[in-house]
Amino acid sequence: MQFDLFDETANAVLGTPTYAAFRERLLASNCQRCPLGGTRTNIVVDRGNPDRPILVIGEGPGENEDLQGKAFVGRAGVLLDKILGAIGLDTNRDMLIANVVKCRVPENLPPSAESVEQCLPYLRKQIELVRPRIVLLLGSTALKHLDPTRRLGPMSEEAGRFFTLGTYPLVEFMVLYHPAALLYNARLKSDMWAHVKILQRRLREMDLLPGSA
Ligand code: URA
Repeated sequence: MQFDLFDETANAVLGTPTYAAFRERLLASNCQRCPLGGTRTNIVVDRGNPDRPILVIGEGPGENEDLQGKAFVGRAGVLLDKILGAIGLDTNRDMLIANVVKCRVPENLPPSAESVEQCLPYLRKQIELVRPRIVLLLGSTALKHLDPTRRLGPMSEEAGRFFTLGTYPLVEFMVLYHPAALLYNARLKSDMWAHVKILQRRLREMDLLPGSA
C-alpha cells in the first residue's frame, strides 16, 4: 500500500518532492500507523547523506537509535562504520542508512508484519527520492521485505550476492550480513570481509568509491 486515502498525515509525508521535506514531515508526523508509535522515543528516519547513490537498509532502530533518533549509532553501527571504513567509505558522507521500520520494536524483536506493512511506504519513498544505484541489504529482514516474492535461503547462501528487482530496474541490490550478527558470531567476520571486498570491486567499477574515479 503506497497511499491510504484515510491517512492524510502519511499522504503528506509520502507526497513530498524532496528528501529534506520528506524527512522533516515524517519527523513531525508523530506517526501512529502501527503500535510502535506508542512505545518509541524517536522516529529514526536515517543517518548519512541522501545525495549519494548508495543506500544501506537495516532492520529497525535499537535502543541507542531510538534515544538518539539516528540509524545505526549503537554497537552494530560502530561495527558497520568500521567495516565500510575499511574500503574507504564514510557512512555519514558517502551513503544514506535507513531501516525497514522507523521505530524501535521493544525487546529488539523483529518487526511485525503489521509494522512492516505500515512503514514500508516510507522506505520506498526514500528509495524513490535518493535514487540509489546500489542498495546494501543488511540481514534477512531487509532482504525478505525488499524482495518478498523470493524464497529465501539461509543467510550463509544469500550474503554476498547481487540481484535486481523489476520494481527498481536501475538498482543493484547486494545482500550482506547484518553487523549485529557478527557481534554474536565472530566466525561470520571472514565471510563478511570477503563480501565487502566484492562490494569494493563493484563500487570501483561503478565509479562510486571515493578517490577511485
Ligand atoms: N540495527 C538495525 O537494523 N538498524 C539500526 O538502525 C540499528 C541496529
